[in-house]
Amino acid sequence: MAEFSMNVPALVATYQLRQREFLLQISRAMTSRLDLPSLLRLILQNAAEIVGCRAGLIALTREHIDIGDMPSTVVHFEARGVYNIDPALLASFAPLLTIDAVPVAADDGGNDSHLPDLQERVRQVEAELGMTLGQVVGLPLLFEEQLLGIIYLFRSDYAFTQADAQLLQGFANQAAIAVRNARLYQQVGRERSRLATIIDNSADGIMILDMDLTVLVINQAMAAMVDVTPESAIGLSYEMVLPLEKVEGDDLNAATDLAGLLSDGGARCEGELQRPGGGRIALAVTYTPLYNGGERLVNIIVNVYDITKFREEEEMKSTFTSIISHELKTPVALIKGYAQTLAREDADWDAETARQSLEIIEEEADRLEALINNLLDVSRIQASGLHLDVDLIDLQRLIERVTEVMGAQSPLHTIELDFPAPLPRVWGDAERLRQVLTNLIGNAIKYSPEGGLIRIGGWSETGSGGKRDRVVIYVADEGIGIPAYELPHIFERFYRVDSSLRRSTAGTGLGLFLSKAIVDAHGGEIWVRSESGAGATFFVALPIADQTPAVSPL
Ligand code: ADP
Repeated sequence: MAEFSMNVPALVATYQLRQREFLLQISRAMTSRLDLPSLLRLILQNAAEIVGCRAGLIALTREHIDIGDMPSTVVHFEARGVYNIDPALLASFAPLLTIDAVPVAADDGGNDSHLPDLQERVRQVEAELGMTLGQVVGLPLLFEEQLLGIIYLFRSDYAFTQADAQLLQGFANQAAIAVRNARLYQQVGRERSRLATIIDNSADGIMILDMDLTVLVINQAMAAMVDVTPESAIGLSYEMVLPLEKVEGDDLNAATDLAGLLSDGGARCEGELQRPGGGRIALAVTYTPLYNGGERLVNIIVNVYDITKFREEEEMKSTFTSIISHELKTPVALIKGYAQTLAREDADWDAETARQSLEIIEEEADRLEALINNLLDVSRIQASGLHLDVDLIDLQRLIERVTEVMGAQSPLHTIELDFPAPLPRVWGDAERLRQVLTNLIGNAIKYSPEGGLIRIGGWSETGSGGKRDRVVIYVADEGIGIPAYELPHIFERFYRVDSSLRRSTAGTGLGLFLSKAIVDAHGGEIWVRSESGAGATFFVALPIADQTPAVSPL
């Protein structure tokens, strides 16, 4: 008896030492684990085993709840791990996943008194489950006044002692640190992948460079702009990835003092790039410095915008202004000149001269009117598309009528019609289709100044591969033709092929643009075959009229 009583304190001390060692081991294991689900499993299993519990549940708050700011509130938890509980029964534990009062600080012991109505909630769960849970303890996971979660432990045989509670709360404090770390790690990972997704999916080009201008990061848009894969560009020098030419502004590659160049919050430039796969683009580039701790320059963020369209628009505006002013000035000057001459009081014009002058005034006024109508059409197309008055059209008859009028105007040209079989009718807007034909035949005349044969014909063909049956017509001339490299552009707004003839011929570069818009609105197609010096043949295909129109009457 005496021997036993002498050994009790020693036994208790040894037991406590073992417990502390055990706690230390577990907390080391916990803090080195950053994967949240496996950490939660480890915590719950150890918590249950320390005090011999048969089951447990660990639940986390969705966000960190700062109990300093919210002394009393309703807190919702999400069950994140179970120990010896059938997951199918988890719904019955719902009463334990909402608490009305936030538990007070962990140092106070963490027993039931911090979850005031715990017993009541446990009874609700038991009623749901139809069985008793035995002894229940709820351990808040608190870290620097932030409530991160709660561990519930269930023990059937004997009650939790004060010593159990203290041991468990010591464990819970360690577990809270580990949970906090794992959550931060998860958050950093999420932020990183969110940032990577934003960069990667940005429509503008983005690169991150290190201080010797090596590419560290390049997004999809940037890689597509310079015709490389992101993988192949990483590690290359900036100059190799973006060899800008005609640089205006801050040239990063030519900079001798990088820090100085970027010191004013960043730098910018514009330049051109010859893409490896062909084609030239214009780019605007901004360079933003990234400082470490606000002092040392560590990275340069490069943002690249494709301004090719913008530059084209600018060019188009100035082309527009010069073409339109030229095309307006000529007829206005003629009208004014003839009108002034006719009005002279000191001259007595014979009837024939007066008639010829008035005819010229009328023709020039018609030119002005046609130009204004074309411009209105262009702005209509841009604003709301073309309005068509659709009807059944005899295209062949329309061609014959337009040819009669146009042929009479040009004695140098012979117009030949070639329709091996009568053309089927199409759905279309007669006035708009007349405009297309007038433009094509007018161009054939205009761009074969030495005269020659103009052949106009057509046929019908059966559609294949889901395409509708269609009528194809053509206008072929023997004129100056169009160089191959100009062909892709001639249907663009205000586009005129550069030639000495063009410079001496009136035109706005709107005719083919409008013809294409009209044909497109009919559900058709327009294209050209030509060679420089060997004439040009324009083709128009329109769907043949069956029961349903290809375009809906507006
Ligand atoms: P415009 O004739 O008013 O210049 P278009 O849009 O009708 O404008 O034609 C665009 C350009 O295409 C013309 O400037 C001309 O260079 C070229 N083109 C059109 N038709 C022909 C043709 N039949 N032969 C040679 N070049 C043509």
